[in-house]
Amino acid sequence: MSYGTEKLSEEKVFKDPIHNYIHVRDRVIWDVIGTREFQRLRRIRQLGTTYLVFHGAEHSRFQHSLGVYEIVRRIVDDVFAGRPEWDASERLVTLCAALLHDVGHGPFSHAFENVFDLDHEQFTREIILGPTEVNDVLSRVSSNFPKQVAEVIEKTYPNKLVISLVSSQIDADRMDYLQRDSFYTGVSYGHFDMERILRVMRPTEDEVVIKTSGMHAVEDYIMSRYQMYWQVYFHPTSRSAEVILTKALHRAKQLYEEGYPFEWVPESLRAFFEDRVTVEDYVALDESVLVTAFHMWQQEADPILSDLSDRFLNRRLFQYIDFNPATEYVRFGELERLFREAGLDPDYYLVALSSSDLPYDLYRPGEENERVPIQLIQPDGNKIELSKASDIVQSISGKRRTSHKLYFPEDVLRAGKEEHPLYERILNKLGSGT
Ligand code: CA
Repeated sequence: MSYGTEKLSEEKVFKDPIHNYIHVRDRVIWDVIGTREFQRLRRIRQLGTTYLVFHGAEHSRFQHSLGVYEIVRRIVDDVFAGRPEWDASERLVTLCAALLHDVGHGPFSHAFENVFDLDHEQFTREIILGPTEVNDVLSRVSSNFPKQVAEVIEKTYPNKLVISLVSSQIDADRMDYLQRDSFYTGVSYGHFDMERILRVMRPTEDEVVIKTSGMHAVEDYIMSRYQMYWQVYFHPTSRSAEVILTKALHRAKQLYEEGYPFEWVPESLRAFFEDRVTVEDYVALDESVLVTAFHMWQQEADPILSDLSDRFLNRRLFQYIDFNPATEYVRFGELERLFREAGLDPDYYLVALSSSDLPYDLYRPGEENERVPIQLIQPDGNKIELSKASDIVQSISGKRRTSHKLYFPEDVLRAGKEEHPLYERILNKLGSGT
């Protein structure tokens, strides 16, 4: 028996709060889970700074990745197996891509990537193809196998049906994170009938389609995604924590570049400051390293770095107001000037941030982020695009919603306004005086 088809002598299970059990029979899957690069995902939270708002949201990318694997496993083993449109030889590559689709995420993903100008998708590729334990395991299947797994994740794999299971507008990734993030945050959004959706999924030559009879379950899924974005993912207070984290890292990077004499810098961060990050450096980093850095930096002499580190650890977050810098740039410029005059560096203490989401979209060829729409399959075999059949989906389809906020340290301005008359003027200009 070849390594790629080898089964474990006994099935292994992981107890999971969303899927009850996650089942592993394949030797390759079991070995991938055991690699250091995959185990590292235990130390990276799925929702970054969201735990500072929804305290239950401490769940990791490790469990989400197992969840995505389990959903795909159920689709291919329970729903697709035996159907002529499904090529069973694609099973292992599909499962591995599901398991590894997030393996390149760094600590506090978006904030961290933004500061160091990194791209987690590029690191996903490097972890799969580079000198890693993941690559050792995948290469034992065949020398070409790691490349195939990477292609599924990068959406360049020839079999589009396989790609659509891992990334599309109704993929296993979204179905897992909506339910998992809803469970751990404790919000009442994000629920939908996944069991029903799995039962009505059908393989076609180039994509997964849904039987028309399952339309209402899909509507529910689209609406739950829409609600989760605005209630959880874009929560302005969680974004405030992200702003502080980003600015603390920016400050540390800037000080490092200026030759500031740090009391302490974690060895594993040096490569990032020096812009010479290898896949090894990347894998060595996780959220525990960053949290330790913030602990140590609270004692640094630089007042901005120590303040931002303390703010992040002790949840002294920035306040925010609705503010669109594109239309209110004159006011923004005045605020920047006032902040500077008052001795508050606006590069760190006055931050405009926009969040934007497109809940569902039709296929608009040539536009950025072209999306493959969800197709319903009718009893006569004809396909109909979801928003043409569903009034609910039609009403939100193609509509981008954006929220603009301005973040600032209201606590400092309020506490010091007797002493510094400028603080009072700033508060008035921000509309949060009195
Ligand atoms: Ca994911």
